[in-house]
Amino acid sequence: MMKSDILLCSDLDRTLLPNGPQPESPEARRLLQRLAERPELTLAYVSGRHQALLMQAIEEYDLPVPDYAIGDVGTTIYAIEDGHWRPWDSWYEEIAPDWRGKTREDLQAWFADIELLRLQEAEKQNTFKLSYYAPADTERDHLLSQMRQRLDAEGIRASLIWSIDEATDTGLLDVLPEHATKLHAIKFLMKHKGFTPEQTVFAGDSGNDLPALTSGLQAVLVKNARDDVRDEALQQVQAAGHSDCLYLAHGGLLGMNGNYSAGVLEGLVHFLPQTRDWLQDVSSGKAS
Ligand SMILES: [Mg+2]
Repeated sequence: MMKSDILLCSDLDRTLLPNGPQPESPEARRLLQRLAERPELTLAYVSGRHQALLMQAIEEYDLPVPDYAIGDVGTTIYAIEDGHWRPWDSWYEEIAPDWRGKTREDLQAWFADIELLRLQEAEKQNTFKLSYYAPADTERDHLLSQMRQRLDAEGIRASLIWSIDEATDTGLLDVLPEHATKLHAIKFLMKHKGFTPEQTVFAGDSGNDLPALTSGLQAVLVKNARDDVRDEALQQVQAAGHSDCLYLAHGGLLGMNGNYSAGVLEGLVHFLPQTRDWLQDVSSGKAS
């Protein structure tokens, strides 16, 4: 690992992908693409998407193919070489102890009699991710404590992540190993590839990025983030005493607006100013 090497970790939806209501600066993704060609830059996507949806996003939005992809809300890490996606087995070894040798199939059997739960599609499940649909008006606390009791009885350390898909008004429930988080996966990647905190930048936009945005890693919140996420992130870094580690993109880098990829690049340049020259090389290279 060279001292000049950089690890850029970014969320996809509404962070690098311009799939929100705000406008995208037209040159932002082209600059990202060219930045990714720099040998000093290691790029990792960090997403709730599973492999097929990660690949679809890269294709559809013409994003650079990353060096690593942390998928399925942190339950998988892929190393990508020559277009080949290889699951990183040492990550499974890291998170498997939380489930004491059990897998999704075992846990699924323990919950089979809970009628509110409907299994999500097969591609949304993996060895360490058990995902259900449930009615949006489910008594969440009751359901979760019922499940928690059964997990505790087996000595399983799991996170139960409940959210509502507003588009379909459906409850979503993920059962994951406790250590299978975006933040822990990023730290695992840093440790195993030898990146220091000073060489690493994370970018995100929404609630499930907050643990990584406010962890003390150098982090950037893109400008198109919702105000409540921005407020929450600011409060958390202030409370933890590391406000300097969170950068709020506001626009202005190379005339761009700070939304999506433009905000990611702006944050990267803020923490690692040498990357500004890389972008300007790219701009002038294009013009000449
Ligand atoms: Mg997002």
